[in-house]
Amino acid sequence: MNPVTAIARPERDVMPSALPVERARADFPILKRMIHGSPLVYLDSAATTQKPQIVIDTIAEYYRQTNANVHRGVYALSAQATDLYEKARGKVAAFIGAEKTDQIIFTRNTTEAINLVAYSWGLAHLQTNDEILLTEMEHHSNLVPWYLVAPKTGAVVRHLPIHDDGTLALERWKEFFTPKTRIVAVAHTSNVLGTINPIASIAARAHAAGALVLLDAAQGVPHAPFDVVALDADFVAFSAHKMLGPTGVGVLYGRRELLEGMDPFLGGGDMIRTVTLQGATWNDLPWKFEAGTPNIAGVIGFGAAIDYLSALGMDKVRRHEMELTDYALARMNALDSVDVYGPADATARAGVIAFNHRRIHPHDLATILDRRGIAIRAGHHCAQPLMERLGQSATARASFYVYNTRDEVDALIEGLIAAGKFFERNQ
Ligand code: PMP
Repeated sequence: MNPVTAIARPERDVMPSALPVERARADFPILKRMIHGSPLVYLDSAATTQKPQIVIDTIAEYYRQTNANVHRGVYALSAQATDLYEKARGKVAAFIGAEKTDQIIFTRNTTEAINLVAYSWGLAHLQTNDEILLTEMEHHSNLVPWYLVAPKTGAVVRHLPIHDDGTLALERWKEFFTPKTRIVAVAHTSNVLGTINPIASIAARAHAAGALVLLDAAQGVPHAPFDVVALDADFVAFSAHKMLGPTGVGVLYGRRELLEGMDPFLGGGDMIRTVTLQGATWNDLPWKFEAGTPNIAGVIGFGAAIDYLSALGMDKVRRHEMELTDYALARMNALDSVDVYGPADATARAGVIAFNHRRIHPHDLATILDRRGIAIRAGHHCAQPLMERLGQSATARASFYVYNTRDEVDALIEGLIAAGKFFERNQ
């Protein structure tokens, strides 16, 4: 792939997002930290986001005041814990426009949610020579589960290619989507290229031929208004920790009739209706898929994160990230030492920018920037097939969220310039 080297700034006027960033920053205690003597500039939210005080406090308060196991006790504390846990489920459902709360299944993360579908739906429905359509830009979480399940069923995996500008080659759809395709599992938003994929159009094509659509929305749900009904998705997977919530909580949304027809993925406590020495029957949705004690505190903390994001307004979150990305792309493209990957226009992408310095390995770059307090990611970003497509073994990546500012983009650019000078001096 040829990196996008000359990105023209969009002609339109960008309205200020009106996201109260400075006020929001005060809510994130970690942003007061100094790293190697400089203020932390956290540009790795695509890996995991920082947590506002309200999320930290909600979790601590749960442990201080309400800690008990859910769904099992008849005593007040357990009923209160259950109530908080189930209320959080309702918040998630409303946040993504799910019709019913029981379509929200709590998992550990996006990865587990995709594995749930691959195993529970895939093992039961895929047959020899059936096809699973993925894309070249998928995260390993949306590749490996299918690589595990496909050989057990005789199904085969195919990958829709991407263009050099980091968008999906949808004009080649008919080459890759065949009468044997049973499911299209695709990133809503790429964690490397930032590309926001045309999901409604993909879903329309897949559904017209009777195939299902799974969205890896780990980089989608956290960053813009999200409506599972408008997107017409059958399954949607995402993680709390990428949207101000704690680690250890993920979500699978599913179409109700599909979830009802699926067997559980994991077995154990809470997911059963009856167990005898002969066998077991399953609980109702969503608990059928939530075996064992869940991450109660984490789910309740996630509810607080959703309240926080909703109060900010997801349309404002999107606009803020778009502005920062637009600004960062323009500044990066003004540096001739830096190659940027992905769509040129900030309106077509999320706040994730993968790039490479022509003279400095991404790991060295990340180490040099870290000395200035700037946290960026370097590596294959769990997308090795995409790296191969880009012709790179690794890239650097900066990603933005509600607390990032233009000044932080400037700090990144200054860091890139200084790193270049440092390398020139020492060659
Ligand atoms: N898919 C995408 C697009 C991601 O960015 C990530 C996280 N980097 C994942 C899946 C996996 O998320 P988790 O580690 O929370 O399961």
